Amino acid sequence: MKTSFYTNPIYLEHDTGSHPENANRLRSIQEKLQSEGLLEKLEVCPGRLATLSEVKMLHTEKLISEVEFASHSGAKILRTSDCVISSQTYNAALHAVGSVLEAALEVAERKCENAFCAVRPPGHHAEQNFAMGFCFFNNIALAAEFLTRKMGFKRVLIFDFDVHHGNGTQHFFEERSDVFFVSMHQDPRSCYPGTGFSNEKGSSNGLGYTLNVPVLPGIGDEEYLNIFHTLVKPNLLEFNPDYVLISAGFDAHRDDPLASLELTEKTFVELTKELKMLAQKTSGGRIMSLLEGGYDLNALSSCVLEHIKIFQSDSLC
Ligand SMILES: [Zn+2]
Repeated sequence: MKTSFYTNPIYLEHDTGSHPENANRLRSIQEKLQSEGLLEKLEVCPGRLATLSEVKMLHTEKLISEVEFASHSGAKILRTSDCVISSQTYNAALHAVGSVLEAALEVAERKCENAFCAVRPPGHHAEQNFAMGFCFFNNIALAAEFLTRKMGFKRVLIFDFDVHHGNGTQHFFEERSDVFFVSMHQDPRSCYPGTGFSNEKGSSNGLGYTLNVPVLPGIGDEEYLNIFHTLVKPNLLEFNPDYVLISAGFDAHRDDPLASLELTEKTFVELTKELKMLAQKTSGGRIMSLLEGGYDLNALSSCVLEHIKIFQSDSLC
């Protein structure tokens, strides 16, 4: 079985102009995979549009119609200048959700080895009732909801290594014990969106099923990976997930213009190996990853290349 690579030209039509979250991000990924000869080893999948009822699993009708109306009315932004919008934004956002759900299903049913979704707009900041931080609908949260509600998975792990805290994802699941949200991100005192402190651990039935691990600006590979191995990994093993989802943002890279960590490809290689090994150990190999942030085109494309190489490789050594 192959690794599936989901992408579609519609994502390029979410036109954000010179905003850092722009279509060149996906172009650079595609070019890199092609020039390195990796694309031909993958099952390239076009994905599909999500239905409204799929988006409504977590989002309000108000948000959905707001995105649709703004997109079709020629508006340039939605709510804040963070959320740049164009005529195809609504369709691209619906398609991102649909592709992620299709990938989640394919991996669940073992129709592919694993999957990476090169989608945009990204999703992990999107809340139930509002868009924020370049995100409109929360792709990864909808995947976790689909897997637990419709597919019967009991312990879904969402590992979010984007440099920004996945506030939206956390809020959807913080009172639940069937989805473990784990986020490593830059200290919220110095980084958007200002949430994700280590004392945010979930509540009610979900107490202990949110794990926030903020790290200080300037931190490099060795220190970051040491924190992962000592503070994070034991919790992942203890949770014993039956499905592993990755919110894969590559903006913690040292070349990224939007944050201040000093990581290199080494960290993303190591994290990907660890999460793939975890999935092999506890989840029958079920692992699916989707793109969040990452704004330096060289760093982004190089990190995605390494990430997918590990997904499609037979060996983890
Ligand atoms: Zn980010």
